Amino acid sequence: MSASASFSSTGFDRFGLDEVLLRGIRAAGFENPRPIQLDTIPAGLDGRDVLGLAQTGTGKTAAFALPLLDRLLEVRRKGPRALVLAPTRELATQIAVEIRTLSKFTRLKTVTVYGGVSMRNQVDALRQRPEIVVGCPGRVLDLLQQGVLRLGQIETLVLDEADHMFDMGFLPDIRRILAPLPARRQNLLFAATMPAEVRQLANDLLTDPHVVELADSAPAATIDHALVLVAEGRKRALLEHVLRGDDCHSAIVFTRTKHRARRLAEQLDKAGHRAVGLQGNLSQAQRDRAMRGFRSRRYDILVATDIAARGIDVSGVSHVINFDVPNTPEAYTHRIGRTGRAEREGVACTFVTSSDRDWVRATERMIGAPIPRRRFEGFEPDADEWPERRPPRGARSSGRRRSRRRNSAGRGRGEHSRCR
Ligand code: AMP
Repeated sequence: MSASASFSSTGFDRFGLDEVLLRGIRAAGFENPRPIQLDTIPAGLDGRDVLGLAQTGTGKTAAFALPLLDRLLEVRRKGPRALVLAPTRELATQIAVEIRTLSKFTRLKTVTVYGGVSMRNQVDALRQRPEIVVGCPGRVLDLLQQGVLRLGQIETLVLDEADHMFDMGFLPDIRRILAPLPARRQNLLFAATMPAEVRQLANDLLTDPHVVELADSAPAATIDHALVLVAEGRKRALLEHVLRGDDCHSAIVFTRTKHRARRLAEQLDKAGHRAVGLQGNLSQAQRDRAMRGFRSRRYDILVATDIAARGIDVSGVSHVINFDVPNTPEAYTHRIGRTGRAEREGVACTFVTSSDRDWVRATERMIGAPIPRRRFEGFEPDADEWPERRPPRGARSSGRRRSRRRNSAGRGRGEHSRCR
């Protein structure tokens, strides 16, 4: 780095972070802090517990990583001092990559631990006494029980996507991991939604937390999202039509089951698309290969199930297509949050059949606004079976929600102009 670059200032100077981290921030290409970072970093630096209600794509990794790293730099001591728990291997890897970039000019070491691969490399890496461990609860617990991972010196605990960890049945493991942690520590918990069990965990875990409530359950304003009514048997043809659209450069297609993801990826591949599947039946090496291929643009289309694609951050995804509606309304926000990330614009189309009525109603109630309907000529079912489109009952109507509604649902574009 040239001398002038190393002294150039960024909007991150205001926090009083260690100079080596400012260099890491510049290496990451971050110029100005995101709202979640403005709010979280000072509280994190003060050692406060944080409850972050934020969806992915908001910049929350750096929001928790920067204060965590700064505090680790204050004292030199080897061995695990910060533990970050995440629901999936992909998210854990992504978090570790970001932490490594930000801490590039420090001597702090980050190790990632997750299941589905041999323990040997992870055990060897832990022997190097890294200060930061990022992992999925199952493998963290295994390593803990085998005495390979010692957590008695943890100063900071981060639970990322705590709602997903709950969905995936990790709460009992998390509670077991918490037991050997020192009582005096900083805790940061992030979740996009707050089911009762996660709220309970937050109550048990956090002391007088600084609450950062950035995004509610509504999708980011940068996402142009819509429902498309289609008969089940016409979904494949409609998908083809959307994928062939001029503005579709890179798409994640979600299916309900692993089997459907695998089959659809094969069909798209046969039809001449550069498509790859990402689902839980694949080995870790296959999953890594699929993700690497999608990130590097070897594939334009990733066909995935919810679990496999959680928290995935790939820049420049132009379309999210819900080939099948997700199981829960919450999963809708997470899925479509794979596009429109980092303040870019994205398009999300959800294929709905007449049997998805209840899901549509529940999702609109959660979002607090109707989701725009979009029609594609030649793909409309015979009978006009649109789920009703009234403002959902129980919709909250704060000013912020109203402005979000304008942003996300009625952004002045022609109804048919995108998502082709
Ligand atoms: P996250 O919500 O942590 O997954 O972050 C979403 C994306 O935004 C990641 O690719 C980050 O590297 C990127 N990012 C986070 N903070 C900033 C920032 N202040 N400026 C630019 N990009 C950022």
